[in-house]
Amino acid sequence: MKKLFREIAISVFLFFGILFATLQVDWLKVLHLTPTIIGDKLSELVWDFISSGLYEVDSEKVCLPIDTLVHEMCIANGIDTASVSIVVARTYEVNAFATVGNHLVVNTGLISEMDNETQLSAALGHEMAHIQLGHIQKSIRQNAALQAILILVTGNSRSNNIRKITEKLISSGITRAKEREADESGARYIDAMHLDAKEMAIMFEKFKDDNSLSYFKDHDNNQKRAAHIREMHFTSKEPYRQILSPETWEAMQEVCR
Ligand SMILES: [Zn+2]
Repeated sequence: MKKLFREIAISVFLFFGILFATLQVDWLKVLHLTPTIIGDKLSELVWDFISSGLYEVDSEKVCLPIDTLVHEMCIANGIDTASVSIVVARTYEVNAFATVGNHLVVNTGLISEMDNETQLSAALGHEMAHIQLGHIQKSIRQNAALQAILILVTGNSRSNNIRKITEKLISSGITRAKEREADESGARYIDAMHLDAKEMAIMFEKFKDDNSLSYFKDHDNNQKRAAHIREMHFTSKEPYRQILSPETWEAMQEVCR
């Protein structure tokens, strides 16, 4: 009983301690800390919870092609490859998301729904743009106090819940305007890779208004997104590049299906 009381007391202390630390920006200035340090520490902690709940795919048939596409995207757009880390998660859920600590998670369910490497690059490009444009970090910082509460009240046994709530917190901080910005930047990223950026529009049109898919649920109407991409001007012309060999693409799809 005494032990239980002590644990509750420690939890309450941590709860208010972190809440106080997160909210008191001036206090942080006195200690020559910036609020982002607290945000980053929390991000690391949240990522530990999230990643422990993911069934990470380590097959080279999947990881190598994904790494290749992301690497090519970084090179073509002057993005530091070390600034983002990619995890492939095995789940049928058609989803990809950028999350705390510049981590980008792509599900096997999404990979298997893509018709070609350009559509897959478009999905990765949209998430990459959220990271590069600072959307995730900003959203995290705004919600740092909420995350602190989240960690303390849910405990580490429910990493899936933490992932879902973190996703919600992040998406609540990302407006439609930022989504459009991420679509535009994502399309420009793949254009710079000498891939056909219109494939992004084709991908959106393919899913039309299928809002049952997690990846498209929180976004604008897919037809509208497709139309916006089609209105954009791109510099790459035919013949477009092919980065992965057909065999590599097929081998990856086989593992993801
Ligand atoms: Zn988005």
